[in-house]
Amino acid sequence: MLNQPVYAGYVEAPSWGVELRVGQHEPIISSQTYQRIQDRLKGGFYAPRQSNLNEDFPLRGHVVCSDCGTPLTACWSKGSYKKYPYYLCPKRGCDSYGKSIARDKVEGEFEALIGKATPSAALFNVGKALFKELWDYQYSQAESQTKAMGAQLVKLEGQLAKLLERILDASVPTVIKAYEEKVRQLELDKQAIKEKMAFSGKPSSTFDETLRTAFEFLKTL
Ligand SMILES: [Zn+2]
Repeated sequence: MLNQPVYAGYVEAPSWGVELRVGQHEPIISSQTYQRIQDRLKGGFYAPRQSNLNEDFPLRGHVVCSDCGTPLTACWSKGSYKKYPYYLCPKRGCDSYGKSIARDKVEGEFEALIGKATPSAALFNVGKALFKELWDYQYSQAESQTKAMGAQLVKLEGQLAKLLERILDASVPTVIKAYEEKVRQLELDKQAIKEKMAFSGKPSSTFDETLRTAFEFLKTL
């Protein structure tokens, strides 16, 4: 839980190629707090990244050697004039040990493979059914929450009305002041509930619209 940058307002999805970035949602903690937690978890100091190898070779560790099945490692190899990027098998004794494969070749073939892996219609239908179930659940949750908040609002209004009557009847200034303070607090509570009600409740688009957007996105992957 302490490793979730989403609480600091960020989003990331490495498996979809989405690097850490600022999200559209409101952060719960500041990014400084998030960073301090990470530093603390690492043992009190900040360990800088070794190099950009993971950025340069995104498939490093994820693609395996066709001879021995060991995850490929990667490196920049120095040529006469410039450096060339390669993937290679790190397993001693393997036929492919130390034989460099050009980065373009590995990544090109990987891309071609991904291109073929579009989800089947059956899978889409299962996905749609699951999505619908979840949607209905969230919808009913939101509805009952809104109802509960509505009831709370009515209760607060009642308390407020009573307090105002008491203020009218009261004559001792300190008592009036105490009542007024309580009214202020109730008004704040009321405001908070109203804000929550504005955010919960109805989804911002319909099920079909959301589904279409999500699936169109998936199809482009
Ligand atoms: Zn190998």
